[in-house]
Amino acid sequence: MLTTSRFHLRFWPVWVSVGAVLGLWIACKWFHQDWFDDGFKYVAKASSLSATTLMCWCLVLSARFRALEDLFGGLDKVYQVHKRLGKLLCLVLAPHPLFLAAHRLPDVSAYLGYFAPAATLQDRYALGKDLGLAALIALCALVALSLRLIMRYEAWKRLHGWLGPVFLLVMVHVHLVDADVARYAPLRVAFWGMLLAGAASWVYIRLLYERFGPRHAYAVESIETVGGAREITLRPLGRPLDFKASQFVYLVIRTPPIPPEPHPYSIASGYSPDGRFKLGIKEVGDHTRSLAHLAPGDRTDVYGPYGRFSEPFFNRGRDCVFIGGGIGITPFIGMWHVALHSEERLRPDGMDSQLKARHPELSSDWTAPRIALFYVCRTREEASFDDDIRAQAEQSPLGGLEQARQAGFDYVLHESQTHGRFGIPHMRDVLGDRFPGRLFFLCGPTPMMEALAARLLDEGVSPLDILIEDFNLV
Ligand SMILES: Cc1cc2nc3c(=O)[nH]c(=O)nc-3n(C[C@H](O)[C@H](O)[C@H](O)COP(=O)(O)OP(=O)(O)OC[C@H]3O[C@@H](n4cnc5c(N)ncnc54)[C@H](O)[C@@H]3O)c2cc1C
Repeated sequence: MLTTSRFHLRFWPVWVSVGAVLGLWIACKWFHQDWFDDGFKYVAKASSLSATTLMCWCLVLSARFRALEDLFGGLDKVYQVHKRLGKLLCLVLAPHPLFLAAHRLPDVSAYLGYFAPAATLQDRYALGKDLGLAALIALCALVALSLRLIMRYEAWKRLHGWLGPVFLLVMVHVHLVDADVARYAPLRVAFWGMLLAGAASWVYIRLLYERFGPRHAYAVESIETVGGAREITLRPLGRPLDFKASQFVYLVIRTPPIPPEPHPYSIASGYSPDGRFKLGIKEVGDHTRSLAHLAPGDRTDVYGPYGRFSEPFFNRGRDCVFIGGGIGITPFIGMWHVALHSEERLRPDGMDSQLKARHPELSSDWTAPRIALFYVCRTREEASFDDDIRAQAEQSPLGGLEQARQAGFDYVLHESQTHGRFGIPHMRDVLGDRFPGRLFFLCGPTPMMEALAARLLDEGVSPLDILIEDFNLV
């Protein structure tokens, strides 16, 4: 499946760190006036330093650290950056051995001989070199397999776990070859700091996260199947989750035969004082199908919350257009709820400053932006959240959909079987001709989001105003 998160992907922290490592390396060489005679070595070393930095980032980005969500704009974006760096990694690393041996050219057999295993326990460098080559081959094989053209998700994930041991090989290689990293103290400290951060991230996400991650115990309160989606209401058993509208959680169910792997699902409800929330889940594969065995009363763990999709809705003060295709409606339900209940607010002077920073919408000095919510489904029967959207309007202080529309909150259920493929003309019916200046939030099947994003750009909407929630992390 294609992914659409290329919008707003932020790579700058990665490029800055690669630049800093390379800059530090050259500065150390300059300080010690320790230049190579063999010019090829500069390419080889730059390649290994850059690739190792990328590898550390890959591990750190896979650890679901919430601080990184702010830096990269949400966990889905974090994973997209991780994925792209993983692919780049092999290309950046490949020149390392190729250029280290380049001084042996044009003698091709001597050049190839460099790659033959030569390790002995006495020869530390040869051992390090062989381990490095083994790590490179394993890494390229894993990354190639991770492209996952044929593999099922679970098999892919198991395979992906081997990147940790490969990283360990890289660390041993760096330790044994005794190269520039060992020679210059500032580089040594920075580089080993990065390596240890990468290793610690792997240990955290693989071994510690399940127990020490942001875990909340919930019980299934009710399950309803509407329009092909399973709507699961969860009730907290302890400290409830402090989530923002549109965020998602990793759901873990340890009730056999449901596999206990964590799967991400958006919270498909607004806040409730008792901490209950709802998930809407569509069957697409093993895990979602196995949820047929879930029953009221079953215990679940939810990890999170994650995601920054709604930040611009809360903070930019601009008219918003929400387009949810099929099950992609789920992240919009919470924002719709917040907007419709914007009368019920706390006085800003009585609010705790941390609470206000995290939940600006709770303060009476926050004004909900105007919203046009488009729910795109094939048929009305498939529109599983249509009743929730209507009920929220009725239960809000506004009192119903018509009153909500008059207050600036439009809702359109678009049945594509009857009204054709959803596009600009359907939006124009509600928005008029004014597209630029609004924020467009999209979530749904990839082809739909790609097509809509392209049409919106044609209409003059800035790419920065198109926000995408990607259900396809891998
Ligand atoms: C931020 C986010 C929010 C989501 N919200 C919802 C939602 O509200 N409702 C809903 O029905 N679906 C949602 N999804 C999609 C949902 O996570 C997948 O459909 C589900 O995990 C599929 O699992 P499966 O075993 O049934 O299917 P599979 O056939 O195994 O997987 C189908 C696809 O889902 C993705 N996937 C599978 N397992 C995982 C996993 N553990 N972690 C990450 N991705 C995985 C992979 O891309 C895979 O190709 C969301 C996904 C993301 C990333």
